[in-house]
Amino acid sequence: MAAETTDPMPRPLRASVCLSALRHNLGIARSHAPRARIMAVIKANGYGHGMLRVAKALEAADGFAVLNIAEAIALREAGFTQEILLLEGFFSADELPLLARHGLSTVIHAQWQLDIMLQTPGSAPVQAWLKINSGMNRLGFQPDEAPAALQSLQQIGAQVTLMTHFARADESDGIAEQLTLFNSVTHGLNLPRSLSNSAAVLSYPEAHGDWVRPGIMLYGASPTSGRSASELGLKPVMTLSSELIAVRAIQAGEAVGYGASFRAPGAMRIGTVACGYADGYPRHAPSGTPVLVDGQRSRIIGRVSMDMLTVDLSAVPGAKIGSAVTLWGDGLTVDEVASAAGTISYELLCAVAARVPLLEAI
Ligand SMILES: *Cc1c(COP(=O)(O)O)cnc(C)c1O
Repeated sequence: MAAETTDPMPRPLRASVCLSALRHNLGIARSHAPRARIMAVIKANGYGHGMLRVAKALEAADGFAVLNIAEAIALREAGFTQEILLLEGFFSADELPLLARHGLSTVIHAQWQLDIMLQTPGSAPVQAWLKINSGMNRLGFQPDEAPAALQSLQQIGAQVTLMTHFARADESDGIAEQLTLFNSVTHGLNLPRSLSNSAAVLSYPEAHGDWVRPGIMLYGASPTSGRSASELGLKPVMTLSSELIAVRAIQAGEAVGYGASFRAPGAMRIGTVACGYADGYPRHAPSGTPVLVDGQRSRIIGRVSMDMLTVDLSAVPGAKIGSAVTLWGDGLTVDEVASAAGTISYELLCAVAARVPLLEAI
């Protein structure tokens, strides 16, 4: 068989990741919390943007927060020397020697982790972020358990940072109770503190402490429904785009897609886009969810299928096969699409499937 000499035309769906927007958004985080160090949160493959790519663009950050040790080691092996934090800490004793060898920081959120550390002498990681449950009730020592946990960590020579996580930093008056509790538990302790996710970075300077932990804002999405990304000065990082691969005219009463959930109210032109739920586009996005076709605002109609979705071309009379379609990103915020689909930007960004090529844009 002859070797293939030309690349086939690829499916037009792609996610382009704008590196300068990442750097810009890091600058916005810094401008809000100028005295804090920044632990850039790049878990979930950098919120779907590619972890190492994001870390490289954000190399001015003071640290990186990830979920598991494989990600942390990949960052070290790629040459990153910043503090690297495991947000849920370690899961078993085998990880302790690796934490020590790679100089990784670990959250300690429960007694079982502390017990493992105490029973594994010599391999204790030097940097421990002691997580205190101030009201989210997910991870963390109870306020009355925290002093003993701190004492144990200090006895084995750990450098401790005190941390907590807010449940409602995206709401007005959303952190008062948790902040008061955290401050009372940590009162008088001369140790670094870390409390703020993106929403708190943007809204609650009194909670910035020594390290802030922005995630979603770095990717250019808004953490609060009350203020849009552009009002916050954030630039979208990911643009998910594709093309029309079919165009047709349908008559009043004709249906579109599985379940015939959309019926044309009158004669109209519709287009089929190469993007479906197997690419990470939410299947539960209803008819009416916004989309751009040739830069014009339109809407999806009918059910999202595995590999395709359909759009209304009434507002885009010039649209034809090959017309550019933006699912979200430049010109259409992921927040708006998420809200139409009854979810949040975080879920859409993280769900972009591995089969979608991620391309870098400057
Ligand atoms: C994911 C996460 C963050 C970042 O939250 P955003 O809302 O994306 O800014 C901060 N802290 C912890 C503990 C997290 O798990």
